[in-house]
Amino acid sequence: MSESSPSRNLIGGRLALDFANELSSSSEFSWEELLRFLLATRIISSERSAQLLALPQNDPRSAGTLLGKAQRLHASLHLTFRALLGKETLLRDWVEPINEVLRVTEGHDEILPQNGKWGLEFVAREGGLDWLLAAIARSAAELIAEGASARLGVCSNPDCGLFFYDTSRTRRRRWCSMSRCGNRHKVRAFSRRHSAGRR
Ligand SMILES: [Zn+2]
Repeated sequence: MSESSPSRNLIGGRLALDFANELSSSSEFSWEELLRFLLATRIISSERSAQLLALPQNDPRSAGTLLGKAQRLHASLHLTFRALLGKETLLRDWVEPINEVLRVTEGHDEILPQNGKWGLEFVAREGGLDWLLAAIARSAAELIAEGASARLGVCSNPDCGLFFYDTSRTRRRRWCSMSRCGNRHKVRAFSRRHSAGRR
């Protein structure tokens, strides 16, 4: 598995949104797919990824437990983000997989430089495997805690459904990205107008 392996879009703008976007929406992703995501988002190094790739053979139980937690976390994020977008009430059961990861992960917050600014970052203690999911769970918890004011959005293309964090000034971002869905929509709208004009 190399750094250049399959192009990841990572358009979410928040780790939890990228996690929801990048892995199969059925939450039935494999151990390899999980590692690919953790590598693409630099949660693990390529050395660590190579070590972890062998875990299902060396320690199937630990690998299975972590994969199960990651899949439950993923399903939980889809449920909660859709509910937030629909302004529905969140059920306690839905967020439980997030709390499950937060609860068992030991670590602390640190003020660290982030892109020229200072930000609060969770630094997990590297014991066990739960820390691999800690930053994702933490990112999800922050989005949910933002609640109604969250800048959570979903792509307007019904065939797409990617989540994003809307940092636009007007908060009216419609597309996951212009190149992926926005331009395609523009071209379709243009050709519709064009053919209507000719008729
Ligand atoms: Zn899209």
